[in-house]
Amino acid sequence: MPDNAPLPAHAQTPLLRLLLLAAALLLGGPASAETVRVGVYANEPKLLLNADGHLSGIFGELLEQIAEAEGWTLQAVPCEWQQCLEQTRDGSIDLMPDVAWSEERAAFLSFHTTPALFSWSQLYSQGDLRLASLLDLQGRRIAVLQGSVQQEYLKNLLDSFGIQAELLPQNSLLDGFALVASGGADAAVANQRFGDFQAPRFGLRDTTIMFQPARLFYASGKGRNAHLLAAIDEQLLYLQADNHSAYYQILERWGGQPLPRRIPMALWWGLAALGALLLLTVAGNLWLRRRVAAQTRHILNEEKRLNTILDSVDAFIYIKDHQLRYQYANRKVCELFGQPQQLVVGQTDAAFFDAETVANLQENDRHVLQRGERVETEEVNRSADGSPAHTFLSVKIPLRHPDGSIYALCGISTDISEHKKNLEHIHQLAFYDPLTGLANRRLLLDRLHQALARHGRKRQEGALLFIDLDHFKDINDTLGHALGDQLLQQVSERLREQSRAGDTLARLGGDEFVLLLEGLTRQPELVIGEIEAVAGKVLRSLAAPYELAGQPHNCTASIGVALFSDAQGDVAELLKRADLAMYEAKGGGRNALRFFNPQMQARINTRTALEREMRAGLERGEFFLHYQAQIGLDGQLLGAEALVRWQHPQRGVVAPGEFIPPAESSGLILPLGRYILRSACAQLAAWSQDPQRAQLTLAVNVSARQLHGPEFVDDVLRALADSGANPARLELELTESQLAEDVEAMIERMQILRERGVRFALDDFGTGYSSLSHLKRLPLARLKIDQSFVRDLLSDANDVAIVRTIVALGQSLELEVIAEGVERQEQLDLLRQLGCRKFQGYLFGRPGPAEALDASPLNCG
Ligand code: C2E
Ligand code: MG
Ligand code: MG
Repeated sequence: MPDNAPLPAHAQTPLLRLLLLAAALLLGGPASAETVRVGVYANEPKLLLNADGHLSGIFGELLEQIAEAEGWTLQAVPCEWQQCLEQTRDGSIDLMPDVAWSEERAAFLSFHTTPALFSWSQLYSQGDLRLASLLDLQGRRIAVLQGSVQQEYLKNLLDSFGIQAELLPQNSLLDGFALVASGGADAAVANQRFGDFQAPRFGLRDTTIMFQPARLFYASGKGRNAHLLAAIDEQLLYLQADNHSAYYQILERWGGQPLPRRIPMALWWGLAALGALLLLTVAGNLWLRRRVAAQTRHILNEEKRLNTILDSVDAFIYIKDHQLRYQYANRKVCELFGQPQQLVVGQTDAAFFDAETVANLQENDRHVLQRGERVETEEVNRSADGSPAHTFLSVKIPLRHPDGSIYALCGISTDISEHKKNLEHIHQLAFYDPLTGLANRRLLLDRLHQALARHGRKRQEGALLFIDLDHFKDINDTLGHALGDQLLQQVSERLREQSRAGDTLARLGGDEFVLLLEGLTRQPELVIGEIEAVAGKVLRSLAAPYELAGQPHNCTASIGVALFSDAQGDVAELLKRADLAMYEAKGGGRNALRFFNPQMQARINTRTALEREMRAGLERGEFFLHYQAQIGLDGQLLGAEALVRWQHPQRGVVAPGEFIPPAESSGLILPLGRYILRSACAQLAAWSQDPQRAQLTLAVNVSARQLHGPEFVDDVLRALADSGANPARLELELTESQLAEDVEAMIERMQILRERGVRFALDDFGTGYSSLSHLKRLPLARLKIDQSFVRDLLSDANDVAIVRTIVALGQSLELEVIAEGVERQEQLDLLRQLGCRKFQGYLFGRPGPAEALDASPLNCG
């Protein structure tokens, strides 16, 4: 309560009244001579100056009554309202009647405590204008008393409801009413007492717009005339307490309804205030409703615009609340769920996705809502109906209230399924074998690097199983590549079944597969068993019959194993060792398993040393040819076989059995073979100059690597041309094993040379396996019965049968047959008996220098 506010009624105790009276007495008491200047302005019926210069109206007569009781002489000071206020303030007026209490006025005026009159403000308008509520004042001109409480109050009221009305300040209420009557204003504001009294005179009527209930007092300048105000209070208490007092007679005289005494003043006032409030509330509600309608329209328009944007974006946009229920979902989301927006909103992801997806989504969502962090993540969403999964790149952010608390999350997800598929495809192409879908060499090497590095850190063993199909080439050649591919696919399927999760399975190309086993025990005595178990299963599974084009086929595999710990972290070394062990398995009869071991390593070391020495030997011309005679039925010299020798600087003469195989595997056989061919052709050319030897043929051994090389035909022709040797005297010896691969291309090459006169012999016949159909198609001139059959001919009836068969085969195919390794006369005799016509062996001479050929003692009987 402000300092100068009138005391509330409950504070007006008899004691206080006594004190106030005492104070008045001390200040000089009721001085009969006191003149009180009273501001008077025209405000009928509350205040006016009558013709004889006396105060009149409710406040005027009431003050006259009090003045009489107090012995004051009243001096009327006529003024306009605003002017009166000013004069009261500066003290040139002692009392100003009919002033409503307000906080603002209390700052410069002093009031007594008991209200002299209650009143409220009301709008008055011309009879035909209907103003029912505050909202009807939009655009209206309203006359107000300049500086009055109503002016201030009405202005605030209109402002707060956003109503634009023009307030026209007037010097007096009468001016305001006159302005409305003349049409200069639509309505005027006046206190109800003045308005009801004066309106009929101006042809105006009261409206239902009421506001600002007010308590009216006499006022003095701030801090002035306290005794006057105290006396007024004293008198008012006395007058208002008596129903028949002058107070009520005055009110009745001036048209105001006297307050029924049965209803306490405060209650009456309360009812009036309530009425006004109710009115205000109705008006306020109306206004609010219009504002809300306008705002809603605005918001709806905005929302529509926003929705159009959000729906045309190619992303999935949604909002979820704390219970992870969709609060908003754009068109894309609804399309994904196959549900209209109203059915999506309020649902959780559980209505649309499978349990695993829901768990994952919820984890991400909770992260955003609970930690308030932005989450950017890839989400794979599987729908509950089992349709294909989609991969999304999702960005989720928390949505916050102005105070920072989180109320929802907003997610924007982009479907990257297609992109992922492309990436996977590229990855597949780069790292997987297209035929079998297994890892390719590149991926295997990558995994091997990682595995060896891991193995270095952990105390675990790993193993590389090098798996090679046995005789795959035969199947490929006889059945065709399409069925060969089918076999490889079936093999990879079986390997997949046998491998454990975590093992790497790869196809290196052709019929070579690799199985990488990790996490094996480090104990040497156990690890071998562990691997043997796996490899055994693989071998058995691969050996089971396959079905190709409706026919059963058999195919086995050979497996070489190298341990990680053997390779000292070197990937190439590990592969080499497993490869080597695999060859050992092949050598051991195939369909077998071999572990790489130190003896193997020793052999490798020797072999690499040998290769190095051979390379040097080739440069230094350490290789030379020996010749072994080939004899006819009558013991005549028909020709010779050229057999290569190596004059090793330390080891002396080295036999071909020792260096030909490593020369083949290292590729050195190509330059060596070229050298042999040139030397042989040179020898033939030399013999051609000698009449005794001009008819001799010379057989030259050709290894598989040479024969299958693209330069072979050119090499032979060039050797012949360069030496000038007669091609018809040259015989090239192939072995059966060379016929296993790429037969068609080989036949083509042989044909070219055959047309030039070069002859071909099939060496070591009977040891390998050659199909009859191949034999018929090859441009062969001769079969060489392998020396193993000749060796045991005298003791083994099987060998006799074999030799007889070969001789018969030769006759039917029109091929010459020569027996090699003939050491004894008995062997020669039996061979002749079996139909053999040509011979080679120690019986006729060991391989030796060309010059030694003539000397061969021909003892053929
Ligand atoms: P091959 O072509 O079957 O040669 C016959 C082998 O039997 C020769 O051994 C020869 O010395 C040996 N031999 C001949 N008569 C007898 C006999 O009565 N008893 C016994 N026990 N052995 C006899 P060599 O010279 O050690 O050659 C071994 C193999 O090395 C050859 O078998 C051939 O496959 C290969 N070879 C030799 N020279 C060449 C060559 O210049 N080029 C190629 N690619 N391979 C060659
Ligand atoms: Mg030979
Ligand atoms: Mg031979």
